[in-house]
Amino acid sequence: AELYGIRRWGAGFFDMDANGDVTVKVKFPSGEVAVSLMEIAQGIAQRDHAMPVLLRIENLLDARIIFLNETFREAIAEKGYEGEYRGVFPVKVNQQSHVIEEITRFGARYGHGLEAGSKAELVLAMASLQPGALLICNGYKDEEFIDLGLRATRLGYRCFFVIESPAELDIVIARSRALGVRPLIGARAKVYAKVGGQWTESSGDRSSFGLSSTQLIEVFEKLNDLGMIDCLQLLHCHLGSQIPNLADIRAGVLEACRYYAALVKEGAPMGYLDFGGGLAVDYLGSQSIHPHSRNYDLADYCRAIIDVIRATLDVQGIKHPHIVTESGRATVAFSSVLMFNILDVMHFEAVSLPETLPEGSHKRLRHLFDLCEDIEDHNLADRYTEAQAIRGQIRDLFRQGHISLRERSLSENIFLALAQAIAGRIDGLDEIPAGLEGLRQSLSDIYYGNFSVFQSLPDTWAINQIFPIVPLHRNGEAPTREAIIADLTCDSDGKVDTFITGRGVRPTLPLHAVNPDEEYLLGVFLVGAYQETLGDLHNLLGDTNIVSVRINEDGSYDVMKEIEGDSIADVLSYVEYNPQALFENFRAIAEVAVREKRIRVEERKQILNEFSASLQGYTYFEK
Ligand code: PLP
Repeated sequence: AELYGIRRWGAGFFDMDANGDVTVKVKFPSGEVAVSLMEIAQGIAQRDHAMPVLLRIENLLDARIIFLNETFREAIAEKGYEGEYRGVFPVKVNQQSHVIEEITRFGARYGHGLEAGSKAELVLAMASLQPGALLICNGYKDEEFIDLGLRATRLGYRCFFVIESPAELDIVIARSRALGVRPLIGARAKVYAKVGGQWTESSGDRSSFGLSSTQLIEVFEKLNDLGMIDCLQLLHCHLGSQIPNLADIRAGVLEACRYYAALVKEGAPMGYLDFGGGLAVDYLGSQSIHPHSRNYDLADYCRAIIDVIRATLDVQGIKHPHIVTESGRATVAFSSVLMFNILDVMHFEAVSLPETLPEGSHKRLRHLFDLCEDIEDHNLADRYTEAQAIRGQIRDLFRQGHISLRERSLSENIFLALAQAIAGRIDGLDEIPAGLEGLRQSLSDIYYGNFSVFQSLPDTWAINQIFPIVPLHRNGEAPTREAIIADLTCDSDGKVDTFITGRGVRPTLPLHAVNPDEEYLLGVFLVGAYQETLGDLHNLLGDTNIVSVRINEDGSYDVMKEIEGDSIADVLSYVEYNPQALFENFRAIAEVAVREKRIRVEERKQILNEFSASLQGYTYFEK
């Protein structure tokens, strides 16, 4: 467990058992239950779902909703705060129906609402939430969007239109008049406090959303002039996403409170203060201000928000607002694990070298060979640089036709042997000598995984997000290999080469040697936020199979939902092919082959059956 830092980033949800399997842990009133993910993977295989599989653990969704709501409630009680916490889940972070169903079903006990940023998200939110819940509408809104929201208001939802630009307000006013429904309005103010981390652009002067202070006054005045100021009840200040530093959150909250207080002083009724997203997930488990970590826990976050609100509003005698947060990743990241199998391994190791070089070997080759004899600790980097240079010259000589393929192969082997000898010398050192930083990685294995980075871990590629990756089994055994992971796409970006380990972020991951007679399964953790919908069809690798499970108090688990991944026909239809028409074209091609007597009619039948089965098959590697 130490090797992969699982207890640091696992938030108490993941651990390892005595067999070396990764476990998921769930708390029940009668105690904690740990279930092996390997056992779940076997159950998935018995149900005939091939790898890769996205595993959803419903209990973890529920646990996060409890944690979020209860921690806010505790902080509210502890600080004598007079408003309530009203959480909403931003649909964009995971729109999958099963996730939304569970959040709304389980979240109902806390009145946990939803945030929608488009018409499609609003439609699903209206059909999923129970009336009475908060429904926050962000994003650019046309008439249809606003009409839908007004209907939601009529049905009893607390549906807020968050005004992102002055033009939007006119549409809200016009449509609410036309439909005779009084709207609930929020104003989104631009926060200027810069937050650190990956998403610093969501705040500041040039952020694309939100009203400037001048526009905020315009919105206020327009509503006031029209006798609609009672509608303005919410201030929205999205601070950012994955904000690692609590000090930045405090600064953003302070600015939001100033806007809020000013609107109250101007005469708006207000009542809700919405801080948007930003509550970070500690993907690294380092509790630091690294962009993939955070230097606070949830209780610190809740207390910081409450303290800043009180410090700002109490002195002005302003009633405490209800606190709204739109925490996305902190709610859903933990609940999904991508499981995949390793298909093949490429090693970068010298095969056995001869004692002496063959007679008449090229002098460059001899030079390289001699370098191996002479490695002293003080000249490691020099030796390596020299060997790289000679290897380059030998490659040139091969290109020019001056040395043979066998000589070239021998030279590559000598180089690898030398590089390995040098790597062996630096392994124990505290600091890697200058010039040898990339050496270990250049010798690491490539493990080929049955998945697509672009489909299942798009943030790895797009924004260098680091997700924890751990073998799901064999952890009782010390791993003997160091590797990077390549996916199934034929794309040099389709790889993972930054890993979270117990010793910090590293360019290689310790893994076990793959046994030919046993499947080697890895899990990518904390992938429940953003990855599913942002994923794309690079190389036409489609959605993976999805299996949702619920862990029971007795340590058993129930399979709640099984969703088949995309078939080849599915992905082809996404890029505008008609699978039936493709089949017919292919049948015609096969018929010509029969007519021209290149195949027999029986073979035609077999080829067509296989083609048709492929259309229905999984897009990933099948064994
Ligand atoms: N609310 C709004 C308006 C957002 O733009 C986002 C994401 O950027 C979120 C909420 C969710 O943020 P997070 O996943 O950091 O909680």
